[in-house]
Amino acid sequence: MASIGGVVAAPRNQEPGARQHATDGASRLPSPMPTAHSTDVAAAQAADIETDASRGSSNELNQNVPPAGDGAAKLIVPERGSGRFAVAPGASVTSGRGNLVTYSVEIESDLDLPLVEVARLVDETLADRRGWTAVAGRALRRVSANPMIRIRIATPETADRLCAPLDTGGRLSCRNGENVVLNAWRWANGAGGYERNLANYRRYLINHEVGHALGFDHASCPGPGAIAPAMLQQTKGLDGCTPNPWPATGGAR
Ligand SMILES: [Zn+2]
Repeated sequence: MASIGGVVAAPRNQEPGARQHATDGASRLPSPMPTAHSTDVAAAQAADIETDASRGSSNELNQNVPPAGDGAAKLIVPERGSGRFAVAPGASVTSGRGNLVTYSVEIESDLDLPLVEVARLVDETLADRRGWTAVAGRALRRVSANPMIRIRIATPETADRLCAPLDTGGRLSCRNGENVVLNAWRWANGAGGYERNLANYRRYLINHEVGHALGFDHASCPGPGAIAPAMLQQTKGLDGCTPNPWPATGGAR
């Protein structure tokens, strides 16, 4: 695996024409895997990215008022980063039962985010009884070396690079191969439906993109007023559902 400017390049199996979902880290995960994404490149690209009609040009960066409710100071997100990531040290306890899936938590060095606290939020989210361990039949554990999944919070431009050939437009998150790329702009600003609870939006973002890494496809809102599935593209909109970050409470699929 090559290193470009400190960013670990996409695995070789992601050359144009290759399908991330057919050949990426999912194949390294324990089987049987849940239904994989389509093998159609365009469809899979469309399916795996958090599209957002409100995504905009860079000059709107940080102009939105961040969602209130988590009491945190506003995170200032630079458009561009170094591409170097700090990895959360140590390991979590193993949560859930089943074949083990390991993950790391990494934050691009340009972002003013507390690494240990972010890792704790990720750990708690993934270990939650409403989380993937309840529905995916896997055990999850954070490690600091040789993870199967790399959960990385990245500046918009680095997110674009890590998600390529998917186009994030600088405002979207993705799962691409071993990388679960959480766009720092979204981490800071959330999305509609979560205006009053940025922490829950972050939990949603973690669960949704890790869900892809575990092999889950997108889901639809089952009906007006229903609890949104975690695999609904809630960044894009709720389609009448109520916001929900948890796989076990909204239906996994
Ligand atoms: Zn998605």
